[in-house]
This record gives sequence, structure tokens and C-alpha cells, in this order.
Amino acid sequence: MRLENGSRVGIIGGGPAGCFAAIQLLNRAREEGLRLDVRIFDPRFDTDVRGVAACKGCAGIVSANAVQSIESIGLSVPPRVIQETIEEYRVHILGQTIRLPQPRPGRKILSVYRGRGPRTHQGDPIESFDSYLISEAVARGAGYVPERVRSLGWDRGPLVRTESTNFAADLIVLAAGVNSRPIPELFFNYTPPQTGIMAQDEIRKPADWPAHTVIAFFGEPKGLIFGALVPKREYLNVSLLGYQMGPDPIREFFRAQKEPMAEYFSAPLENCCGCSPRVPLHIAPRYYGDQWVAIGDAAVARLYKDGIYSSFVTAEAAMRTALDQGIDAEAFKAGYEPAARRIAADNRYGDILFAISTAILRNPRLTAAFLYSLHLDETRPEGKKILARLIWGMLTGDESYRLLFRMSFRPRELAELGREIIRRGRWLIPD
Ligand SMILES: Cc1cc2nc3c(=O)[nH]c(=O)nc-3n(C[C@H](O)[C@H](O)[C@H](O)COP(=O)(O)OP(=O)(O)OC[C@H]3O[C@@H](n4cnc5c(N)ncnc54)[C@H](O)[C@@H]3O)c2cc1C
Repeated sequence: MRLENGSRVGIIGGGPAGCFAAIQLLNRAREEGLRLDVRIFDPRFDTDVRGVAACKGCAGIVSANAVQSIESIGLSVPPRVIQETIEEYRVHILGQTIRLPQPRPGRKILSVYRGRGPRTHQGDPIESFDSYLISEAVARGAGYVPERVRSLGWDRGPLVRTESTNFAADLIVLAAGVNSRPIPELFFNYTPPQTGIMAQDEIRKPADWPAHTVIAFFGEPKGLIFGALVPKREYLNVSLLGYQMGPDPIREFFRAQKEPMAEYFSAPLENCCGCSPRVPLHIAPRYYGDQWVAIGDAAVARLYKDGIYSSFVTAEAAMRTALDQGIDAEAFKAGYEPAARRIAADNRYGDILFAISTAILRNPRLTAAFLYSLHLDETRPEGKKILARLIWGMLTGDESYRLLFRMSFRPRELAELGREIIRRGRWLIPD
């Protein structure tokens, strides 16, 4: 089964995955002289509403890998969409502060809004990254249908049903993420991935916030892996990642980190928005079949971060397969599944790294050893700062989890670090 002149492709969801799929499909089809009817269905962009309704609950960091990928398909995120360029991460871990400037100058990390900004925003309208992507897909020939897909059917092929239309498609691309109600009558037996819940808020940014800097806090409260404050012009996005967060995690976070926070906040916090979005934890058990394929969060995403980049990777692999190999289950198994499985396999290393860092931060002796290693790491030459690179990689998504895992367990480096600790007489860690 192949896409031909006049084939119809229904993309459900106009987030990054859906838009990247439309843009890549249309770019490639044009090069090959193939005429396709591509429609993106999503109700989210047909509104002026600020806050959660038009948003997608995301910290909005476009990683360096994502920026590069976006540029590789002929896009360039316009300045009006960019809220901040990020040049440094500053990390607070149990009384210690580490400054991590971008280790590879020239690589851009951006912060953007995925919706129209915080609920209480009053000033000039904010243009979202997602609206920009939709406009680029439309400019390349995609049709945009501002409606929710209510159900799917089958009439000699897949049928997309909204309130006002029935769209008979040759291929359905499911890019609906993991934060909406499931679509009934999924003829294809799609099984969504298991998800977890994260917490985030938008607060007003203090006037003297360090320029171009994300600040992350590790260790407290219990159950938190880390919380990050991401600058976006006059606001800060607060995103928390944790295993067992309490009923009011953002307040608990600020209370637990009161001391280091005092360095940045002198006035009471002004809360401007907030939500508890879902994040996929594993690969979806079933994510393709004859004439349908799921991409982005609906299929698999990088664990806890960089989902915009994994949306790009899955969209690229699925659309390349559809054009080069076909649109039946066998083609997606051969062409798409390996790319999706690579992300899932990498996430397993991420799982181990997050579990180890949580175990370290829960145990005072291990924490003391870790802080001491961190101190030693800072004194080492640039190329040998393993922990700094590890923390940078875990925060930004700039490196694969597999590489970070290998870096953490390089026997030679570990032995060298151990020797240094012993040489300085710090092998007995005080309570
Ligand atoms: C708290 C949090 C912070 C995050 N921070 C970052 C970050 O800083 N950087 C990063 O790269 N990633 C981040 N992520 C991950 C990132 O948000 C996702 O991986 C990414 O949005 C996935 O894109 P997607 O297109 O697959 O799905 P989504 O962005 O969820 O888009 C799905 C779209 O489908 C539409 N839709 C759903 N159902 C229907 C339907 N029935 N009919 C029509 N349309 C439908 C929705 O309206 C939505 O627009 C974060 C995630 C969370 C939860």
C-alpha cells in the first residue's frame, strides 16, 4: 500500500508532532512531484484564550537538537516567537551552586510558549510556537481544520469524523499527544502509552533575574527529582519533575527551597497560571498498523524532556516510511519501528540515571560523597568535567541517556575520581 497522487492524509493533532509530520510529508512530496491532500485536525488554535485551554502544559524549551532539526527542514523560529535564548543553567543542590554555561558555544537553546501565554497576561498578544508551526504547515499546502476529531470509522478506508465533516483518508497520523480524551471507535486498536503527571506554574520574573539563565533546584522536597525555572520575557515557567509529589507541589517546592530561592525572589510570588499535564513514561504498546501510525507523545517521547525533539524524530521516521516504503503495518514495522524503539531503549538508561540520582539525594552519606565529587569535578580541566556534563545533559536533553550512562560509569574516570577522594582523605564521609 503506497501513497499516490491525490492520496489523503488526516493528521489528528496540530502540536509539534502533527506539524512536523505535515511539513516533512509536504516538503518531500513536492520534491518527488507527488500531490497529497494533507489535513491537520486540532481545535486548539481557533481561540484567543490565554492560559490552559489553548496551551499544552510544557516548559517550552526547544533544545539545541530540536533547533537544529527544525532548521534542517527549512524553518527558523522567528524572534517574535522566541521568549528567551538560554545560555546557562545554574543548579542548586543542597547548599551548593554550580554554573553550567553552554559547553558547545553556537548551539542555540530557546524558550517559547506553546499557547498564548499565562492566564493573567495583559500586554501584547503572545505568539505560540505551535501556532507558528501550524502556519508553516499551511504555507506548505496543508489544510487546517479547527475541530476536534470525535471518532474514527472505516468505509473502505479510514474515516475521520468531526462535528461537521467526514474525511475519508488513505493514511491517519495520530499525533494527539497524551493530554486529551481518547478518541472513541479506534478501529485500529491503538493503545496509548502509560503516563505520569507533572506540575507546572507560571510566575512573574524578578527584574534582576540572571540573563539567559535557567535555574534548577535538586533534592527537596522529598520525592522531587528536580524543579526548573525557565525564563520567558516577563515570566518564569516553573516545572517540577518528581516521583511522588504532594497535593500542592509548587508551594511545597518553594517552601523547601526557601534559602536558595531568597537569592532570586525578594517580593511575594505572583502566580499567573498553572496546570498538571501528563507525560508519557513508556512506548505505546501498539502505535501503527495498516493505514495508521501514531507519532510524538502518542507513540513515544524522550523521558521527561525534549519531547519536541522526539516529536520531530518520530514524525520524520514515520513520514519517510510512508513515502519510501508504504503505509501498511509491515512497512511501518520495517521503517518506523526501529526509530521509535531507539527512543524507548534510550529511555531505559534515563530511568536508571533518574533512579540513581534520586537514591543519591535521599541518602545523606551518598549526597555528601556526591557533593564532594562535584566539588572535585569543578576543579578538573574542561574536557574532564564528567559530573557537570552529566547534569547538563540530564537537564537539557542535549545528550542521549545512553551516552550519559556510559559517561557516568567509565571505569577509568571513576577510579581516578576515587583515587582523588582517597588522596584528599575524604573517603570517610561524615554524617
Ligand atoms: C510539564 C511538562 C514540561 C515539558 N517541558 C518540555 C520542554 O521544555 N521541552 C520539550 O521539548 N518538551 C517538553 N515536554 C514534552 C512536550 O511537551 C511533549 O513531548 C510534546 O508536546 C509532544 O508533542 P505532540 O505533538 O506529540 O503532542 P502535543 O503537544 O500534546 O499535541 C497534541 C495535539 O493534539 C490535539 N488533539 C488531541 N486530541 C485531539 C482530537 N481528538 N482531535 C484533534 N486534535 C486533538 C491537542 O489539542 C494538541 O494540540 C514537557 C512535558 C510536560 C508535561
